[in-house]
Amino acid sequence: MTIQTVRGTKDLLSDDWYKFKYIQDTAHNVSRLYGFIPVETPILEYTEVFMKTLGESSDIITKEMYTFEDKSGKSITLRPEFTAAIMRLLKHKKLQIPVRLFSSGPLFRYERPQKGRQRQFNQINFEVFGLADPRSDIELISLSQHLLIKFGINDNAKLEINSLGDNETIIRYRKALVSYFEKYTDDLSEDSKNRLTKNPIRILDSKDKKDQLIIHDAPKIDNYYTKESLSFFDKILNGLQCLGISYTINSKLVRGLDYYCHTVFEFVTQDLGSQGAVFAGGRYDTIIAGKYTPAVGFAGGIERIMELINFSSKEPRPIYLIPIGAQAEVYSLVLTDKLRKSRLYSRYDYDSTLKSKMKKAHQVNAKVALIFGDEELGNKTFKIKDMDTGTEEIIMRDNIIEKLELLTQDSRITHSR
Ligand code: ATP
Ligand code: MG
Repeated sequence: MTIQTVRGTKDLLSDDWYKFKYIQDTAHNVSRLYGFIPVETPILEYTEVFMKTLGESSDIITKEMYTFEDKSGKSITLRPEFTAAIMRLLKHKKLQIPVRLFSSGPLFRYERPQKGRQRQFNQINFEVFGLADPRSDIELISLSQHLLIKFGINDNAKLEINSLGDNETIIRYRKALVSYFEKYTDDLSEDSKNRLTKNPIRILDSKDKKDQLIIHDAPKIDNYYTKESLSFFDKILNGLQCLGISYTINSKLVRGLDYYCHTVFEFVTQDLGSQGAVFAGGRYDTIIAGKYTPAVGFAGGIERIMELINFSSKEPRPIYLIPIGAQAEVYSLVLTDKLRKSRLYSRYDYDSTLKSKMKKAHQVNAKVALIFGDEELGNKTFKIKDMDTGTEEIIMRDNIIEKLELLTQDSRITHSR
């Protein structure tokens, strides 16, 4: 039996597990300050959910989807991104717009695994439907910065922003790009050649070295904005200035999916090698085919955030039971049950000697040891030993919960409820 995980996937344990949870919980808590509702969609979706939405030239559709037929012959895809699935939920549940939706969970893409790029990875994802006002873009960018501050990585990630303009802008700009890139058809990479007919704007996203030389002198989008597009973009930049959010305009920034318009943005770091985008998003008003529904959103890669943040979980310290003698051993089971139901983290081991029990109490970094034998059982008392100072005291059984609560208050497992 192989003990390897599938290429591009990872086990998560202990400290990393806490770190992961911390990122998800923080994102959820911050999302609530902005009026987001949490939603969860299944990992399995009918393939058409993504086919119809993502656009035929997107990397995801062309090469990254995990698609298979189930036993009934239906084509199923492991969710490669949230937006299309959330759109499906929006329609299926007939949600009233405007609405803000937060989600988080695993996604699957068949990509080349490397630092910050996995085949099963996780995102925190924010979508706003039904708001065409540029202030919703500004609020969303401000939310992403809020998260970076919370995670303590605001200095590591810089905002890059661009506008793809409205439909007219995109059509005009596409034309200009096609006539420019057509001159270099033979020199372009295979991917870019394909994009030339399907979605030439995506060529700007190419990581191919030779492509990049050609892209360098390609027409810039700023010359093709309509008056409306320019005014929309200006409002966003002004809003960011008002909020003191610094940015760089990157006129080559386009997103990996086909459906974007107006705003596109990324928070990019230098600390992750070539996988620098921590958060990425933008506006996609035209995502529902044949119907105009304003939509803006962004997603962040949890694994990439994990690489950037300093986090150490505070391990709770247990109360360690040291029963001496057969009767005390039996009583331990009842006692730990009582302590745990009073939310006190307690442990004991079943078959060791006094010496090894003491050793174990140190090993698990116990806060206090509770020592009791026949004498203590008879007197209805316990001997409590403070494991840091070594001091011991006798406590009446009736007062034990109160006393232990006091002694362990800074080393407790915390519960949200
Ligand atoms: P990239 O250009 O890095 O491939 P993308 O355009 O495919 O990103 P989105 O689909 O918008 O990215 O995803 C948003 C965020 O999710 C990214 O900025 C990144 O943080 C994270 N992400 C995307 N793909 C992966 C992956 N394979 N492994 C880990 N994180 C990822
Ligand atoms: Mg990608």
